This record gives sequence, structure tokens and C-alpha cells, in this order.
Amino acid sequence: MKFEYLFFDADNTLWDFNLSEKFALFKVITENKIEYEPQHLEAYHRVNKACWHNFENGNLSVADLKSKRFELFCNEFDFKIDAEQMGKSYLQYLSSTDFMIPGALSLLDRFARRHKLVLVTNGIKEVQRRRISNTGIERYFESIVISDEIGVAKPHTDFFDLAFEQVGSPRKEEVLMIGDSLSSDIRGGNNYGITTCWFNPEGAEVNPEIIASFEITKLEELIEIV
Ligand SMILES: [Mg+2]
Repeated sequence: MKFEYLFFDADNTLWDFNLSEKFALFKVITENKIEYEPQHLEAYHRVNKACWHNFENGNLSVADLKSKRFELFCNEFDFKIDAEQMGKSYLQYLSSTDFMIPGALSLLDRFARRHKLVLVTNGIKEVQRRRISNTGIERYFESIVISDEIGVAKPHTDFFDLAFEQVGSPRKEEVLMIGDSLSSDIRGGNNYGITTCWFNPEGAEVNPEIIASFEITKLEELIEIV
């Protein structure tokens, strides 16, 4: 065994967040008597990304982000819908999902027998907590660290400091960080001085500025690494 501690990102690493997002958007659009079109998802991605970018720069609170992204979204299509209500409804649908990445549950079950698992996720606490419960993964983890609960997010060092503290401050060489995001998971892990594994199922292009120690396209490949 090379790594005693496995730090797992949640969205699009263990959970199929893309599917959850598409489902929730489809639901809020159709409940407002609008026919869903693929361009809605594309526009939502764009405004949502912009809002999270503003959040990361300290220009938007999480509370405001929840409605702001739908305000921008509705403006694009000239939808006359209450953005705040739409934002709330969206989070309800999003929280209700339990879509997993194929194979993730059985791997957690396997790894939890020999390793100490830590869930390290950026996201809105109510949404993450409900999906943790929906997917039944809590029992596999020694600790669960949610950015919105601790007030700091990956890739920041403070986030990793807190995660390390929660599991008794292991030595850095004992820890492997696994995640799909180069900017938060891999950059965060690299900066913190731990080994990183980039989950890249779509075969996205490598960013020469953020190189992971390992790269995998299927979660099963972890078995050889850990
Ligand atoms: Mg992720």
C-alpha cells in the first residue's frame, strides 16, 4: 500500500455532477412551462461559471450566487421567471439526485477496507450533505470536508490544512489527492505538496502548468496506484 489516506473530490469524480446539473436544469425549465433545449444547458454553464468566478474573487456571496445565475440565465432568453424562486427550485432538484460515476461505489467499498478515505468537496453545504445522504457514501469516509461549511475552498492551502487536521495530520507522503478539476484538486494538491491523481474521463487536454502525478481515465485504474 502506497497511500494510507485517499482524498476524494466528489463532483464528477465520485458523483456524476454533469448529469445532476442537466436533470435539475431540465426540471426547473419544464416546470415553468418552457420547452427544454440543449442551448439552455450551454447558457447555464456559461453564466454559472461566471458567477462562481465572481464568488472566488470575493465579488459575490454564495447566497447571492444562487439567484444571480438564474437572473442572468433568464435575461439571455428573455424568460419572465422569478430568478430567486428558480434558483431555490434548482437546488432542490439538484439535491435530490444520486447519480454516481460508474464503479465509484464499489471502489469506495474496496478502498475503505485498507485506506482512510476523506471527502474533500467544493460546493453548497445543503446540496452536498443531501447528496452524501442520497448516495449512502458517508460510511466510507473518516472525514467529510465541504468548502461552504468551513469558509475556504480548494485549491487554497487553508482548506487542505483543515482536512489534514481532521484526520490527525498525516504525513504528506501518505496522502493521495484524487479529482477531476485541474484548477482546484490538482493545483491544490500540488501546491500543498501531496501526490495528485487527475481523473480525466473525457481525455481533456493536459495543461502544462498543472501537471498531476498520475492521470487516469477510469476510476478502476486507481487500484494499481494506491
Ligand atoms: Mg469535481
